[in-house]
Amino acid sequence: MRVAVINSGSSSLKYKLFDMDTRSVLASEFREHIGEGGAKYATHKEALESINIDFSTIDAVGHRVVHGGEVFSDSVIIDTTVEQEIERLISLAPLHNPANLEGIRIVREKLGSTSQVAVFDTAFHATLPSAAYMYALPYEVYEKHKVRRYGFHGTSHSYVMKEACKVLSKEIKDTNLITLHLGNGASVCAIEGGVSVDTSMGFTPLEGLVMGSRSGDLDPAILLYLQRELQLSVDAVDTMLNKESGLLGICGENDVRRIIQRDDRKAHLAIDMMIRRIQKYIGSYMAILGRVDAVVFTGGIGENSEYIRRRVLDSALFASLKVLVIKTDEELEIAQQVIQRLKV
Ligand code: ADP
Repeated sequence: MRVAVINSGSSSLKYKLFDMDTRSVLASEFREHIGEGGAKYATHKEALESINIDFSTIDAVGHRVVHGGEVFSDSVIIDTTVEQEIERLISLAPLHNPANLEGIRIVREKLGSTSQVAVFDTAFHATLPSAAYMYALPYEVYEKHKVRRYGFHGTSHSYVMKEACKVLSKEIKDTNLITLHLGNGASVCAIEGGVSVDTSMGFTPLEGLVMGSRSGDLDPAILLYLQRELQLSVDAVDTMLNKESGLLGICGENDVRRIIQRDDRKAHLAIDMMIRRIQKYIGSYMAILGRVDAVVFTGGIGENSEYIRRRVLDSALFASLKVLVIKTDEELEIAQQVIQRLKV
């Protein structure tokens, strides 16, 4: 069975075609800077159309959809109702869900009634207990407006969890893990017996770790101060927190490879802040899980930087932790979920 996977990010598009009988990759394409000033592709439609896809050979298509809200706790075959629901969730993911929807609609034009499956970044975290997903705001802010922790990177956390259990030769239901997805975006997940019980990203992907250009955790009063005292607009604060903060904000760049080569105060500070935040999350998730079978590093930084892994693990509390490094494969996980959905 040939499964195509389309991963439309806010300004990028990844395409992979798998032969799922042999689990081999038949085609792989990447387009970036979509819609940015002077970019080659103004829209996701143009980017997708620039890829030479023989739709007649494809049996099913899997789409990464960033936000599934409270509605989708698993991947789902796309029909008009699902599409409408993804559209309704745009207010929760204004940068991502529109791009994901566009991908779904373009493929439908080409493929007609061939099955398309939506795989949600949030779905793996649908198991969070209420004490983990609630913010301590007036209860109706959750009830009326669905403001709660959703968590993201679920496809990656779930993929590396399954791979880690294979390496550990343990049943998923008996395994507790802390998975660290450290890329340009980064998140931590506490997994108890195969289910996500806490995660660092929240209502949006902004919460949690110090990331490439996102601040992660902050005192929320800072936002009020920036608006009231510095007269910054809501949009200016949004841009600052998502695009001008994190490693980039502290030391002027977000490529960890380059930052760790530098020997200046701001580069050291940026890495120290990133490491400290990760350590705080590991420590708190150890407390929540009680027993941890392994800590799993993944994502561009987690997979490739021995230096960062060593710095993160440099705490007496972590001395007895088993450590695994597992390459994530979100597209393969999406393709596997397509197969699972279509079997049901
Ligand atoms: P994205 O979240 O955009 O998918 P990736 O998972 O590709 O990001 O991770 C990108 C990050 O990985 C960058 O900060 C890059 O510097 C870092 N990275 C990649 N290779 C290495 C390496 N060998 N050492 C340190 N950092 C690395």
